[in-house]
Amino acid sequence: MSRLFDDASFYQLLTQIDESIAEEVRVRGCDCGGVLHSARYPRKPRGIRSALDERYEDRLSFCCAQDGCRRRHTPASVRFLGRKVYLGVIVVLLTALHHGLTEARRRRLIEELDVPAQTLWRWRRWWRERFVQTRCWRALAGRFIPPMTTNDLPGSLLGRLTAGEISKRLVQLLMLIAPVTTSTSSLRVSRDPQKM
Ligand SMILES: [Zn+2]
Repeated sequence: MSRLFDDASFYQLLTQIDESIAEEVRVRGCDCGGVLHSARYPRKPRGIRSALDERYEDRLSFCCAQDGCRRRHTPASVRFLGRKVYLGVIVVLLTALHHGLTEARRRRLIEELDVPAQTLWRWRRWWRERFVQTRCWRALAGRFIPPMTTNDLPGSLLGRLTAGEISKRLVQLLMLIAPVTTSTSSLRVSRDPQKM
């Protein structure tokens, strides 16, 4: 577990997933019929650096090339959780009680990554208040029996995933919640979380 934050291959896998989601968006094109051109957002993920390659310096995004449209299309991401400056994997791990890290390990990581208490508090509130309002969560919640408790998200979700080791379950979870990372993507969430 402790090695997850230094494991370059884990982050490369997340990049590959983002790239394939983005490719689907690009191929589909704009609703107006226009083609999509790359228009990435520069990012500077905070916390871990050593395991990240230069592809973490921007978020994949497109802009319609059609004059008069120019609509922005930002694909869902398993790496960047909306506009949060920390990577999604950090947000998930540091807020997932019980099914992520042990309490001691979590404390150490918070110190190592220098995440302010205020930020952690905001993230917890985001899971409890914002995330549970999303269409993504509503769709997801209905697929788990018995129903998941919401006051210990994302730990309760992580605990329901059965892929085995924590890195695999994290990838699974990041894919499941990816639709919340964008308002313009229509990423299809059709995979059965129990079988992914
Ligand atoms: Zn367009």
